[in-house]
Amino acid sequence: MPDYSHLEPLFLTGLADYHVHCNFSIDAEGSIDDYCQAGLRRGLAEMCFTTHYDSNPAGKGADSFIRVDGKNTPATVDNLAPYVDAVAAAHDKYFSQGLAVTLGLEFGWYAGCEEEVQKLQDRYPIEYMMAGIHELDDLCFCCHNRFEACFSRYSVEEAVEKYAGDVCRAAASGLFRTIAHLDYLRKYGCEFYGERLEQLLLERSGDMFAALKDSETTLEINTSAMRKGLDGYFPGMAMANRARRAGVDIRYLGSDAHRPEDVAFDFDAAAALVNSSIVACED
Ligand SMILES: [Zn+2]
Ligand SMILES: [Zn+2]
Repeated sequence: MPDYSHLEPLFLTGLADYHVHCNFSIDAEGSIDDYCQAGLRRGLAEMCFTTHYDSNPAGKGADSFIRVDGKNTPATVDNLAPYVDAVAAAHDKYFSQGLAVTLGLEFGWYAGCEEEVQKLQDRYPIEYMMAGIHELDDLCFCCHNRFEACFSRYSVEEAVEKYAGDVCRAAASGLFRTIAHLDYLRKYGCEFYGERLEQLLLERSGDMFAALKDSETTLEINTSAMRKGLDGYFPGMAMANRARRAGVDIRYLGSDAHRPEDVAFDFDAAAALVNSSIVACED
């Protein structure tokens, strides 16, 4: 078992990290046990695993796999079973040690995905279904080797229009508790398009917030933006403030950790930005 004693404990105990990727995600490292140990060290009360589930049949060059026992298997409803079982086993193991472990999924949103989401919900007790919007017109905009191919097809106005439209559609589906990392276009878009991107996202935010509020879809504060060298989180501070004023519930904290060392990253500062960072859970 790796040792995480070098991780600084957070002095705000009782927080929940609702966005972590263990090695069932092909772009993440560390086992569920590794993350739970890191979470205990950090003083978390709860951790929700949110493995990537990318199944867009039109996805161009997307990595539509779940890693099981070190092998990449296609992202299908059946192939998710070992992950579901492993999270349940971790809950049984760690609950008595003070860490609740929750089953979640980061579903890679695409037009027409509703049936697949419903199949997953019907089959498994997924408590936290999050929509991750990672593509524009089926092209990934958030991988370092793909964003240029995606963004070079669109003006900044078009990119924002498409992204905001997808946020509205995902929220309106009513299938997701949360939209992950709102304003994720900033990850590489700030560099590609310049300052105009953030202005346009703010200008277009009213429609997104109306869709979120009407469907009671919540937002997370995703601290991974800090690790990408951006100012603030996803969403950025101006966007988060507008969301709050518009009555959108910013309820969850997510590190989007892809390695155990990043569990609860920057939560001591970010905790003040969420409405309730402690999520009640049942044994
Ligand atoms: Zn994501
Ligand atoms: Zn994620």
